[in-house]
Amino acid sequence: MRATRFFISTLKEAPADAEIISHKLMMRAGLIKRLGSGIYNYMPMGLRVIRKVEAIVREEMNRAGAIEMMMPVVQPAELWQETGRWQKYGAELLRVKDRHGRDFIIQPTSEEVITDVARSDIKSYRQLPINFYHIQTKFRDERRPRFGLMRGREFTMKDAYSFDRDVASMQVSYKIMFDAYVRIFQRFGLQFRAVAADNGAIGGTGSHEFHVIADTGEDDLVYCPTSDYAANMEAAVALPTTTERVAPTQQLTKVSTPGTVKCEQVSELLGISLDKNVKSLVFAVDGTEDGSVKKQLWLLLLRADHQLNEIKMHKVAGLANARMATEEEIVEWFGCVPGYLGPIGTKLPINIVADHTVAMMTDFVCGANEADYHLTGVNWERDLPLPMVADIRNVQAGDPSPDGKGVLAIQRGIEVGHVFQLGTSYSEAMKATFLDENGKPQFLQMGCYGIGVTRILGAAIEQNFDEKGIVWPAALAPFSVVLCPMSYDRSEQVKTETDNLYVALQAAGVDVILDDRGERPGAMFADWELIGVPHRIVIGERGLKEGKLEYQGRRETAATAVSVDEMVAFIQ
Ligand code: ATP
Ligand code: MG
Ligand code: MG
Ligand code: MG
Repeated sequence: MRATRFFISTLKEAPADAEIISHKLMMRAGLIKRLGSGIYNYMPMGLRVIRKVEAIVREEMNRAGAIEMMMPVVQPAELWQETGRWQKYGAELLRVKDRHGRDFIIQPTSEEVITDVARSDIKSYRQLPINFYHIQTKFRDERRPRFGLMRGREFTMKDAYSFDRDVASMQVSYKIMFDAYVRIFQRFGLQFRAVAADNGAIGGTGSHEFHVIADTGEDDLVYCPTSDYAANMEAAVALPTTTERVAPTQQLTKVSTPGTVKCEQVSELLGISLDKNVKSLVFAVDGTEDGSVKKQLWLLLLRADHQLNEIKMHKVAGLANARMATEEEIVEWFGCVPGYLGPIGTKLPINIVADHTVAMMTDFVCGANEADYHLTGVNWERDLPLPMVADIRNVQAGDPSPDGKGVLAIQRGIEVGHVFQLGTSYSEAMKATFLDENGKPQFLQMGCYGIGVTRILGAAIEQNFDEKGIVWPAALAPFSVVLCPMSYDRSEQVKTETDNLYVALQAAGVDVILDDRGERPGAMFADWELIGVPHRIVIGERGLKEGKLEYQGRRETAATAVSVDEMVAFIQ
C-alpha cells in the first residue's frame, strides 16, 4: 500500500468526549470517526485492524469445526416474542417498524434466529453436533455508550451457536469453543484471563468470560494466583463473615402464586443462598402506612457481587413494569438504608406476607424470578442472632480461595468474549427438537459464544500504548512495516531503493505501507508512532552510501543499521 493511495487522517488532540486512552488514541490515529452516540465509522486504518481480528477469529472458529453463515441484522419481532425476550430485553433492544406497521428488531444477538433455523433444518441426531457462527453487526441501545468502540451501540460481534443431542455432548462443544477462545486471544498477543461468569439474562447452566486485563476495565476479576480459580466478581462466591446460618424450615415448595418466582437453592444467609445462582429475595409486602404498597410481590435483588450499593428493588408483579426502588423507598419499607438490611427482622415497620398469608418476619418467601417455584417458610428468626446483609460483602483481596488453594487477588478486566451453556431454554421456548436414535423428539441442547470484535481494538490499545501512541501487537497492526523514505521525490537513489524494498517485502508477504506523502521526517515519524505500526524502516541517502537502512521497532528507542540486502530477512 502506498500512503498517497490510502487514507491517513491523524489528529494532534483527542476530542473532549474521549475519556480513556484507547478511545483518545483511536480518534487521534484516525481509526474511527464518530457519527452519533455509540455509532462510529470504521475508517480505512481502523478497518484493517478489524479485518485482522476477524481473520484470526474466523480461522480459529473454522479450525474448531464451526460453520460460517450470516444471519440478518433486522429480525422479525415474532421470534423474540416466542422466547419472551421482546419483553425481557428491555430498552437495550432497538425496535423498528416497517411500512406495514410490522415490528422488527435490530439484532443485539441471534439466539432466536439460529434456533428458528435449527428447528426447521435439524431433524435428526445424525446432524448433530453442529455449530454455526457469523461475524455481524449488532445494535444495543446501551444506557451509557462510552469509550469509543469499547461500549458502542453499533458494534461487530462474532457469535456462534452450538446444537447437541444431550448435555454431555453440549459440554464437549462448549469445551471446544473455550479452547478456541484461548487460542484466539493468545494469537492476538493480549494478556487475558478466562473467568467463571454470571449467566445474566441469557440464562443457562454454565458460562465463562474472557477478559483482557486492563485497569480501565469495567469488571473486577477475582482470581487465585496459586490455583485455577478465577471468577468475575459478579459470580464470585462471597464469603459470609458470620458462621451463623439460618436454615429454612421448608425447601423448594411449588406454589400456585400467579406471580413468577422460582428458587433453586436453599439460602444460607438471610434465607438466601450465597450461591451465585440465587441473588434475590422475593417477598410480599402487605401495605404501608399510606396504603400505597399493598399485597404486592417485590423482588429484592442482591447482586452476586453483593455490592451493597447495588441492592435493587423490583416490583415483581408483571416484571415488565419492574423498576428500581429508590433509596428513599427502601428506607421507607425497611426502616434502614440499603446495605444495612440486617435488623429488618426486628425493625421492619411493615408486615411481610409469605404466600399471601400475613406473617411477621418469621415466614418468608424467597427465590429468583423464574416461573413456578419459590422457597416458602424461610424462617429468619430461628437461631438468632440474625445474620445481616451487611455481612455479605464483596470478595476482597486476601480472602481464602474457594478451592482452598491459596488467597484471592483482584484485578480489572475488559470483557472481550463470553461463552455460555444454554441448555434447552431456547429450544424449549421455540420448540426446536430433533429425533433421537429411537425416533423420539428431544429438545436441542444449545450453547452460545460471543466475541466483541470491535471491542478488541480498544482492549488491545488499553494494554499496548506509550506516550507516542498505539503499540499494536504484531497480529493486529494495520500494517506490519512502514517504509519512510527521506526525500522520495527528490532523490533518485532513495526512490529506487525504496521501491525495490517495497516490492521485495510485498513479495515476501509482509503487510507494508510506503509513506510517499512527502511529509517532513518528524511529522511522518509521529504519524506512524501514533498509528502504532510495529516496524519502521528509514531509507536515506546518507545510509545508502554505506549500503545501510535504518530499522527501528515501535518499542525501541534507537535505530539499528541493517544492510539493504539483509532487510527483508531481518524483518521476517
Ligand atoms: P457487557 O457486560 O460489557 O455489557 P455483555 O455481557 O452484555 O457485555 P455479551 O452479551 O456477553 O455482552 O456479548 C458478547 C460480547 O460482545 C461481549 O463479551 C463483548 O465483548 C461484546 N459487547 C457487548 N456489548 C458491547 C458493546 N456495547 N460494544 C462493544 N462490544 C460489546
Ligand atoms: Mg451488556
Ligand atoms: Mg457482561
Ligand atoms: Mg457477557
